[in-house]
Amino acid sequence: MKHTEAPASLILLFGATGDLAKRKLYPSIYNLYKKGLLSDRFAVVGVARRLKDDDDFRNWVKESIDTFGNSSEDLTEFISHFYYQSHDVTDSESYRELKNLVDCLDTTYHLDGNRIFYLAMSPEFFGTVAEHLKEDGLTDTKGFKRLVIEKPFGHDLPSAINLNKRIRSAFKENEVYRIDHYLGKEMVQNIEVIRFSNAIFEPLWNNRYISNIQITSSETLGVEERARYYDKNGALRDMLQNHMMQIVSLLAMEPPIKLTTDEIRSEKVRVLRALRPFKNEEIDQYFVRGQYGEGTINNETVPAYRNEPNVDPESNTETYVAGKFMIDNFRWAGVPFYIRTGKRMDKKSTKIVVQFKDIPMNLYYKNGSSLNPNLLVIHIQPEEGITLHLNVKKTGQGMETNPVKLNFSNKSIDGMNTPEAYEKLLFDCLRGDATNFTHWDEVALSWRFVDQISEVWANQKAPFPNYAAGTMGPKAADELLEKDGFFWWPVADLDVDENC
Ligand code: NAP
Repeated sequence: MKHTEAPASLILLFGATGDLAKRKLYPSIYNLYKKGLLSDRFAVVGVARRLKDDDDFRNWVKESIDTFGNSSEDLTEFISHFYYQSHDVTDSESYRELKNLVDCLDTTYHLDGNRIFYLAMSPEFFGTVAEHLKEDGLTDTKGFKRLVIEKPFGHDLPSAINLNKRIRSAFKENEVYRIDHYLGKEMVQNIEVIRFSNAIFEPLWNNRYISNIQITSSETLGVEERARYYDKNGALRDMLQNHMMQIVSLLAMEPPIKLTTDEIRSEKVRVLRALRPFKNEEIDQYFVRGQYGEGTINNETVPAYRNEPNVDPESNTETYVAGKFMIDNFRWAGVPFYIRTGKRMDKKSTKIVVQFKDIPMNLYYKNGSSLNPNLLVIHIQPEEGITLHLNVKKTGQGMETNPVKLNFSNKSIDGMNTPEAYEKLLFDCLRGDATNFTHWDEVALSWRFVDQISEVWANQKAPFPNYAAGTMGPKAADELLEKDGFFWWPVADLDVDENC
């Protein structure tokens, strides 16, 4: 489907001076503008405390785009649509001023009363801002009103329920756009297309032909400046509850009857409902936690997590988690979905490996050992593409086999960088397409699942640190697969080889 420009709209951005706005949001809005996907009838109001006025803000946005985007001559015209309100979101008085500004811009730019409220600030303010928007009349508008909300959505199920209640007092569920930026990534969106548009995959996409699925999301970075937040949350809440569980549901869902938001979301929800529950004492059989100690990355010694600034020196927080999900339905019974994610690992990479079952009878050998299984590898980042691992005849005498990779690299085909996830998600939101945002039912089910693990872990001191920085995680994560007869496919060996 070809995209036409988004409708006229006002974007009210809370957290306008923050890191996310500066690195991702302004460059994304500007890209949409340059591509002609933004209506001429648009305005952006930035809300934060530290800047003074519109000129200050416009310089701020310009600097952000000069640094993190691709600026060109039209930048001056673009930033003329930007306005600033110095405003403490906890101060009830200033919402009235904000309403006056918004109403005035609505008339000036003929925005038809369409409003997007984007909360790019600390989650502690999400509920307060949503309630004020309603109480002070900002949501009283003749056009559409949508709330875009950043992660994390709560830190467990009770806090998520509480936050949801507050938000839903001002916005309906279909007006709430909960961001999971993984859902904006090109190759995550491609999972659905690869599965449902290729006759060769969908018939094999089940427990008769797939032996296991592995999802790795590894970072080489440590906690950086997020330590205060991270030390209270850890990898389970920061990565698994949202991004990893979203990928599992996209891989495992049934084909939707139509590509509509409701149909896709309800198939994803059914996957989460089918996750095998376990008893508290069984958690160790399914999940492994880790925390990095001192180690070496790119020939530099990096400190242990507990020695990072703003981290409790006795911290019991996991910087790594590996797990095995079992999905108890007809399609997936018996197929483990293994996930692992962590900080300070050997390599930055997000990949999915679908490992097919061995052929029923092995007629060929590769250098005297058995055949490699077929793998479908989906490269999410930093590479984007897919690789199919096959066995072919080794050229020359005899019938020895050789493993080969059939590669598709997104970047080399499209010849350009794929759009930033935020650019796509903002555009979806402007057009009212919530498919790639998380529904409340998904949030609630994934918290329920994760809460059980975090409660057990909170009550048991872990033997941390248990992996050295610069490695692929603790030994127990390897054993998780070994006891099922599998192993983690080494991510470095799976990379798209441009020369193939
Ligand atoms: P940040 O850099 O700390 O920015 C916070 C923003 O909130 C600033 O603009 C700050 O502006 C404003 N603010 C703080 N207190 C305020 C108050 N009382 N009234 C009005 N404004 C206030 O945070 P961030 O990294 O941009 O993250 C924002 C959200 O995005 C968080 O939920 C985070 O989890 C999520 N997120 C961020 C990233 C990322 O790459 N940064 C990625 C994924 C998700 P003033 O100090 O000028 O008031």
